[in-house]
Amino acid sequence: MNEFSLIRHYFATQTTQRSDVTLGIGDDGAIIDIPSGYQLVITTDTLVAGVHFPVNTQPTDIGHKALAVNLSDLAAMGATPAWVTLALTMPSADRLWIGHFCTGLFRLADAHQVALIGGDLTRGPLSITIQAMGLIPTNQALKRSGAKPGDLIYVTGTLGDAGYALNHLNKSIDVSLIERLNKPAPRVEIGKKLRRIATAAIDISDGLCADLSHILAASQVGARVNVDLLPLSKELLKATDRASALSLALGAGDDYELCFTVSADQQENLARLLTNTDCNHSYIGTITAEPGLVLHYDNHSLFQGAIHGYQHF
Ligand SMILES: [Mg+2]
Repeated sequence: MNEFSLIRHYFATQTTQRSDVTLGIGDDGAIIDIPSGYQLVITTDTLVAGVHFPVNTQPTDIGHKALAVNLSDLAAMGATPAWVTLALTMPSADRLWIGHFCTGLFRLADAHQVALIGGDLTRGPLSITIQAMGLIPTNQALKRSGAKPGDLIYVTGTLGDAGYALNHLNKSIDVSLIERLNKPAPRVEIGKKLRRIATAAIDISDGLCADLSHILAASQVGARVNVDLLPLSKELLKATDRASALSLALGAGDDYELCFTVSADQQENLARLLTNTDCNHSYIGTITAEPGLVLHYDNHSLFQGAIHGYQHF
């Protein structure tokens, strides 16, 4: 394992340093200071080669995505990301690979002033586990459980792009669609703004229907979603027909957009809060007292199309 010890120094090459890290990489554990009036939000996600990303994915993209999916969970809680730990398992001590991996990881981490405060490296099939920690003013975290009948449902960005790219690996498709799969942009900025206004929130990792259903279950409500309002990118609509695009937007995972609910009287506040943010948001439907998720078209007839399936196991 000498070679592994040697490459551990890559973990310590990050630019971002935080004054609240009393003790970072190098001891048995890290020590961080939590400011008073704040709560710690903690999340963890594992990416396994061949399961969560194609085996031939570039190491810079793997580094980016492993962090992005965790920051996306913090965004869905309204938290400000601050620290991460990394457990990396790889088949051999490949210095070139880990150099590129750290480039992708640290580029995104530095952009969000997130510090890597601990790392572990072991030999085995490629898998990456990141634990991300963020801060939220006490009792302001966004949860899945607060949606009320009459609340409006929104999503950020566009849906289905990553799913399309996943279905067309190694084919020549629009590069922006490939970027959506390999380099998702966690909606941290929007998540923080939603603290003051959203009644419930979740990030879309497994597909809109699956993730919105988590909000409905936790909030004990239902929803009506107008599929004609789903935001579809012009690149996706150029690549495929509208029915396939809708199917991907409803069912495919990996978009890492936010889905959130807002009380109907807060519509103008929301528009004001989210002006000048880095991505748009779209109204897609309404929370109902009646349980279940109803998908319909503009003309109120029920959605008849297919929904792209996503199975974890
Ligand atoms: Mg999530």
